[in-house]
Order: sequence, then C-alpha cells, then structure tokens
Amino acid sequence: KTMSPAPPDPLFNEKLTTIVKVVVLAPMAEALDYALPVGMSLAAGEHVIVPLGHAKVRGLVIGFETPEAHEDLSRIKGVLAKLDDPIVPEASLTFWLWAAGWTLTPPGIFLNGCLRALKIPRAAPKQGYVLTDEQPARQKIRMTKARQAVLDTALVPMGLCDLAMAAGVSTGVVSALEKEGVLHKVDLAREEVWPQPNPDFAPARLNDSQGAAHQLLRMEQDKHAFAPVLLDGVTGSGKTEVYLESVADLLRSDPDAQVLILLPEIALTQAVLGRLEARFGVEVAQWHANISNGNRRRIWEGVAKGHVRLVVGARSALFLPYQRLGLIVVDEEHDGSYKQEEGARYHARDLAVFRARLDGAMVILASATPSLETLTNAEKGRYAWIRLEQRHGTAQLPDISLIDMKVHTPAKGGRGEQMWLSDTLVGEIIATLRRQEQVLLFLNRRGYAPLVLCKACGEKMTSPNTDSWLVEHRASGRLVCHLTGFSMRKPKTCPHCGAQDSLISVGPGVERILEEVHARFPEARAEVFSSDTTPDAASSASLIKRIEDNEIDIIIATQAAAKGHNFPNLTLVGIVDADLGLKGGDLRAAERTFQLLAQATGRAGRKLKPGKAVLQTYTPEHPVMQALAHQDRDAFYAYESMSREIAKFPPFGRLAALILSAKDQNLLNRFSRELALFIPNTEGVDVYGPADAPLALVRGQWRKRFLVRADRNRDLQAFVNHWLAAIKRPNAIRLVVDIDPYSF
Ligand code: ADP
Repeated sequence: KTMSPAPPDPLFNEKLTTIVKVVVLAPMAEALDYALPVGMSLAAGEHVIVPLGHAKVRGLVIGFETPEAHEDLSRIKGVLAKLDDPIVPEASLTFWLWAAGWTLTPPGIFLNGCLRALKIPRAAPKQGYVLTDEQPARQKIRMTKARQAVLDTALVPMGLCDLAMAAGVSTGVVSALEKEGVLHKVDLAREEVWPQPNPDFAPARLNDSQGAAHQLLRMEQDKHAFAPVLLDGVTGSGKTEVYLESVADLLRSDPDAQVLILLPEIALTQAVLGRLEARFGVEVAQWHANISNGNRRRIWEGVAKGHVRLVVGARSALFLPYQRLGLIVVDEEHDGSYKQEEGARYHARDLAVFRARLDGAMVILASATPSLETLTNAEKGRYAWIRLEQRHGTAQLPDISLIDMKVHTPAKGGRGEQMWLSDTLVGEIIATLRRQEQVLLFLNRRGYAPLVLCKACGEKMTSPNTDSWLVEHRASGRLVCHLTGFSMRKPKTCPHCGAQDSLISVGPGVERILEEVHARFPEARAEVFSSDTTPDAASSASLIKRIEDNEIDIIIATQAAAKGHNFPNLTLVGIVDADLGLKGGDLRAAERTFQLLAQATGRAGRKLKPGKAVLQTYTPEHPVMQALAHQDRDAFYAYESMSREIAKFPPFGRLAALILSAKDQNLLNRFSRELALFIPNTEGVDVYGPADAPLALVRGQWRKRFLVRADRNRDLQAFVNHWLAAIKRPNAIRLVVDIDPYSF
C-alpha cells in the first residue's frame, strides 16, 4: 500500500503467464503479487528476489494465481531472480500459514518470523588445501619426511587442521608448502555433513513401570497416525528416560522422519544436552535464543534439507522448516514459557499438537503437573494417558508440611529488622545443615525488595511512564523496572518530597533472604540462584557444578533453579512465600502456583536421601496448599476444573484478549468505547470490557483490554475478525490480539 506504482514494463507484460504470491522479508502484512518471467520456473516454498518500491528484497513463494483473477496487470512487477536456498517443505509452509491464521497475525508478519534465519548471511565457505598440478614446484623444494607425508595425503581438498592431523604433521608444515606453491587453497564443498544420532548408542535400562510406559508409547507410535499422548509422571519418575526411548524407536523405524524435542527455555541447560549426547552419541542440533547466528543459518538449512533429524529447542524450534515430523516431545508441557508473549502470540504446546496432526505424527506431552487443558483432554479420552507413579529407584517424594504464618510470624532481628523465615523453617534448616545436606529456599522474586517507598511522604518509587514498581537490587545498588528494563541508582533523598534517608525497602526478594540467612547461619555457605546471578549458560553451569560438588549449603532461588535439576544432596526445600503467585485475579493463578510449588518442592530428595519441604503460607486452607500438603494432585485438579467449568473458561470455553494501546489516553478511551458498540451479538460468545489492562501504562503507552469468551464449539477467530472488520482503527492505536492468553 505504501509503494508507488511501478512504471509498466510493456515487454514483460506481453509474455506474462502466471502471478506468483510472495511473502517479502520486509514489514509487509500481506503477500504481494509478482509476475513469473518467461523461462523461470518456481514452486511454492522457493526463495526469490523481488522489487519492492525502489529496493530489491528477499521473499518466499507461497502460491500462485492465474492472471485472469488479477485486476490490474499493468502495475505488476516481475520476480527478479530465484535463490538457491533450501526450499521450504510443503508441510512446513502449510503449518506456518495455518498458524498465522490461528493467531490472527497477517501472513507476511508471521512468515517473516519463521524466515528470520535467512536474513543471516551465509558463512563464507571454509578453505581447504590441495596439491597443485605443477610438478616443477614439487621438484624445487627441499623434501622432508613430514612434507612427503602431506603430499601423499593432500590428494583431495582438506581443511588445515584435518590435513595436518591426517598426515601426522604440524599445521606449520602445511602452511609452508602452500607458500612454496606446492599446495593451493580452494573453497571446501558447502554441503555440510551432520553426524546422525545413533538410536542404539546407549539405550536406557528401564525399570518395570518405565518399560510398561514405553510399551504403551510404542503401541501409539505403531498406529503411524496422529497420536497425542500425555506422559504423566511424578518428578524423578524417569519421563525423560522413557521418551528418549520413543525417540530412538522413531529414529530406527522411520529413516525419513524428523524428531523435535521442545523444552522450556530455562531447561535448555548443559545437563539436559549432555544427557541427549550420552544417549545418542552425537551433539544434538539445538535451537534457542542463545545460539550463534552461524549455527542458526546452518541448522535452518539442515532441517529444510532433511539432514538434521533430531532437534532440541525452545518454543520457536517448532517453526523450523521440517520436511516431516514423526515425533514431537513437549517436555514440561504445562510450562508458561511455551507461551510466546511478543509479536505473534502463540502457545507452542497447542501448535505442536496441530503440527503433529498435520504430519500424522505422535506428540508426547510430558509433565508431573499437566496443564488443565491437557489433563482434561486425557480424561475425556482425546489423548492417550500414560502414568508413572513412582520415583526411580529408592527415591521418595518429599514430606510436605504447611506453616501458618498468621501463627508463626518470624521474630524481629537483633536490630529490629523484619525477618522472613519462621522458627519451624529455621529449625529444619539447622537440622539439615547438621546432617551436611543442602537446603533450597524458594522465593520467586528477583532482587532485594519488590517495593521502595518514602516513609516521609508515602510516595512509591515507580518506573517512568509505566504502571509498575521499581525493584531494589542491592547487589548492584540500583532500582530496576523488570518490565521495561529501566534502571537508576537508588537515590539518597526522596525524589518526591526531598526528605533525607527516608526511602525504605518493603517486602523480600532473594537478596534480602540471603541477608537473613547470613545473619542467622553465618557459617553456612549461601548463594542466590536467579537470572541476575546466572545471566548466561556458562555462569549457570558453573553454579550448578558448585552445588553438585557440595560447595554451597543454602541455595536461595527464584524459578531459574526450581526446574529440571537433580541435586542428590538437596534434602530440604523451604518455600518462603507460598501465596505469592495467588495474588491478582489471573485465571491461571492457582494452577500456576500449584505447578510451580510442586516443581520446587520436588527438588528435595531426588536420589537416595529422603526429602522434606516446608511451605510458609497465610492461607493454609487454600486448595493449592491442601493438595500439596496431602500429595493429592487429583483434589486440586478437581477443584480447579470445577471452578473453570462453572465459568465456562478454558479448557471448557475459549478465550481471546484484545489489547489496545496508545500514547493519547483520550483517543484510546474514545476508541475503546466505540469499538464496544460494534460487538457482534453472537450466541455463545461474551465480550468483557473495555477495562484497564493489568498494566494500564507501559513506556508511556496507555492500555485497554477486552476479553472474549466463547463456547468451545464457536469459531473464536472468525468472531474477532468479523468484529474488528466493522470499524476502522486509527493508526495511532495499536492492537494486539492474543488467542488463548496465558496470564492476564
Ligand atoms: P523425570 O523426567 O520424570 O523428572 P528423569 O528421567 O529425569 O525423570 O529421571 C530422574 C533421575 O533418575 C535422573 O537422574 C535419571 O538419570 C534417573 N533414572 C531414571 N530412570 C532411570 C533408569 N531406568 N536407569 C537409571 N537411571 C534412571
């Protein structure tokens, strides 16, 4: 729409045969039409260069149209060139376009995300060395044994190190021969060799119940059709061991199919990757936020060509250009990090199930605390349901006790400062330290204090132009907005009233608990495990190693540490504030709290030693606390399921959130009210709003929200599309549609 019309090209239009629909790698919402020049053949999924305004851009062919269907042929420009990038397989293209429609994202925007790796320039080809044809050069040089060995070896081009190694000489010998003109440099072939995972490298020795679970999975796999499975087993029961055997089965039985293992980003640690490597004997291709650009491009291409058969990755790995997936595993399927909250909003678990259906594949959803969606699907028989009820070996689930903080309020410290650990928990910590075992104190709050306020004027320190408190980080001496990333030095005087030394820290974060631990247990070696202390894979690996080596007695952790790790000597887990996640009116607050606390308490007693967990709570009667204390998962799910069913909320209904935002609050309010007037009257669909969004102001943008609830049999997307088409939205107002919002 923003392009100026191209001057017609008479020569070209005479020969025009077909219209090609192209998604360009530029911020264009819809596919654009181009003409297929004579002599060029193209298929859907091929890559092209096309003109866009005055620029030339990359694009992907997604389909064709006959010229008759086109209104104004004279304005259409031609495809300029075809690129030799690996073609996007049909199943992947279909999946991407479907996902764009499902998430109500324009196809151009959605596919741009899927094709991002192609914007990375290809790595320059590696150089290799090979013998020149010139005999004279060879006769002129002084010959040594080492040099002769190189001459005998360099009959085909080889990289410097490979050649030196094969000839048994130092790399200096090879370089010297190149200078003498005996060897010359050539580009090595581009075709990459991917070492193939070996399903028989190190098979697991499954225990009886794991073996039975594996047999059931095999039966599902043998259907050679879409087969969704819930692999439901307590933490430490060996779900990973079992699904890796299914991966091996598939690699063995279907040499053309690919396998994807999805993990929450946070769980993609060296420990998990090491486990895969040990099982399959090769380094497995990994896909997540922190891989290098070079690898990103290589893996994308390797997957498209079908050379990469096994991928382990975070949610975006779902959008690699697989030819055909034979098996998808979604580990920790309940995990909130599968929900993409920026750009196109999608839930990777739900889309994984769709992709499996498209490819007629098995999809394993593994969890100790399944999402209510998945559990309901299993209960209703839509998914196969395989359970593992026992921890592997002699490991037992921990004993869990509740401490009512209304009764057991912690005493004040020596200087009158507030404390957060109750006497009961302190007693357990002392006993654990005496046994020389480890303690994990869990508090899902980074920094020192979630709120800083002025005791003189009562002003709360908030983020500029944002409806959010600044969090005090004492280690760095700063106040930080966890939403926008804004940070400032902690001021000495109140910026509001100017009072001296009047700012006080309210509530605890992990740093503050560390302070209390140092005061109470000066001998114990204590450390914080959060995204602040372990900003990258290396620092987190080194902290994990130190915990495993027993160099740390008390770990104070946010959820960065609560998942996936097995610390054999960790026998006590203390939950500092079990009620934290229950505050606020979020639909999934209870479910998420239950899952998080079950995971966190599940860290205790993973191996030989029995574990214990202590939950500090002000609401011991809450169904979440009761279910945890009595190890009665079913009671919690029954309660949660009933309350959702009454309200016809997911999974018993469907939900979408529409977030409108603008700098101009009046404009936003006016348009929100106007949009409300156009809500279509449809049976089985309710719209709530407009209301202030939970974060009503972010970075100077005001935010309003509508929630759409639909009965399960209604087409929610069609309803939203129909509604939004009824009224034109001013450009100054941004709209985000979130189908199946996760937290709100
Ligand atoms: P989950 O995925 O259910 O939490 P894991 O597969 O991580 O369980 O297993 C928990 C621990 O028990 C891991 O350290 C794993 O290596 C070990 N384990 C589980 N099953 C077996 C088995 N059959 N043989 C040996 N070790 C096992």
